[in-house]
Amino acid sequence: MSHLNNSMNTYNDLSYFASLNSGYTDLPIYGIVTDATRIQWKPQNMKYATTIRIIDSTWSQESHPVGYVPFIKVLFIGNNKNDIPDIKQLGAIIKFNGGLLRVIKEDEYKTIAFLWNKGNEKGYWKIIDENPIDDIEKIKSLRDFARNYFEKQILMELTQNLSTARATNEVSNIIVKVIKVKEEKKLEDSYKLIKVMDHTDKAYLVISEAEKEEFSYIQIQDFILIKGARYTDLATRRIELRENGNIIRLPNYLKLLNEYQSTINIFINETTIETVIEEKKLMTPIEVSIVKNNSLPISSLKIATDANALYGMKYRVKVYVIEMGPEDIRQWVKGYCDECKKFFDLTIRDEVSICNVCKGIGRMVYQVQLFVKDKELRDDPEIYRILLWTHDGKGEDFFGEKPVNCYRSEYLYKKLEAIYKKLTQYNVYLDCIVERMGRGTNTFIQINDTIINSIT
Ligand SMILES: [Zn+2]
Repeated sequence: MSHLNNSMNTYNDLSYFASLNSGYTDLPIYGIVTDATRIQWKPQNMKYATTIRIIDSTWSQESHPVGYVPFIKVLFIGNNKNDIPDIKQLGAIIKFNGGLLRVIKEDEYKTIAFLWNKGNEKGYWKIIDENPIDDIEKIKSLRDFARNYFEKQILMELTQNLSTARATNEVSNIIVKVIKVKEEKKLEDSYKLIKVMDHTDKAYLVISEAEKEEFSYIQIQDFILIKGARYTDLATRRIELRENGNIIRLPNYLKLLNEYQSTINIFINETTIETVIEEKKLMTPIEVSIVKNNSLPISSLKIATDANALYGMKYRVKVYVIEMGPEDIRQWVKGYCDECKKFFDLTIRDEVSICNVCKGIGRMVYQVQLFVKDKELRDDPEIYRILLWTHDGKGEDFFGEKPVNCYRSEYLYKKLEAIYKKLTQYNVYLDCIVERMGRGTNTFIQINDTIINSIT
């Protein structure tokens, strides 16, 4: 890795900054904010403290070995609110003047920079707004890099979904959409109640009187990352920020947010779901699938998704399909690159799918989600998400057709559409095998050993 510093520049790169053993850079440095944490610890007489993490293209995942998540951590301490940056959105760009940040090394890949209170001196750092005056090219390239970074980055893998957070009841980081914001008053206590939702559940984030001003920027329709949240009441789905917790808005250009949005849409109309379920119950149920391993006893989704269920365990469940996603059936078939281990969009590409990362030839796989209710456990109010992801061979004969590009194959599109109509029909249910997948708190269930056998 080169730490050379171009003398033409009017700024220093972060790799140059990180190469310093101590001391300061002469020139300003810029960074993309990838994290912000409010901290409770403060030195004597100081009121405010926060840390942020910054990266740039010279100091990011790509310039480091796998397993390291590189960043430069900057600690701000101040007496006034204005002494510390108010980071409301990931991807914000911050500029530090030269001679300002002091480098403290932890190891080769961990660098901490301290920014001490500068009293009344101003202009030591600044959040770059939409129309920068200096280093315009640099800022443009940082913005492009940030866009790419958050698009690819493992945000999802570092977070839990609402239903997992609720099941495990651990302190979690959660990505959700803001559905409603309202003021509540109970006796002397007034607080803000923010209804949030992800593709698995809904919850109510309680913002206390003391935090209200700090998080006043949160608005309906925002996608936010709630850091350090925990359920305080499982029954009413109330969550609160723990000590050092934070709420950060996500940049709205993220493609993953669009995908999220379409699955959230499915949940928003609760009355529709209730109607569908009531109607399904009224009629004689029709089973439309066969399972390969029918020696398994009928279990429940509650058990299959329980925190204690082990990786690779198989459960046989009977479910009503409420909805399937993505909404556009042509999106059910994706390209998959064995090299990059990534799914990619086929849109209107050729039959031969080219991976947009490594440019290698991918293969066609199904990537579908089923939103289901347990047929047997009627009192269970939950909607569960089951994945039909066939990249690892699991569930590959579910539809009875090999996946091909649905933008090109009218035949497969029509067939999938017929299956969709059948599965979501009132009285139809699936008898299927689900396998517990994923690790740690990021677990999910995937269809396996199940074939749809009757769609006439
Ligand atoms: Zn690839």
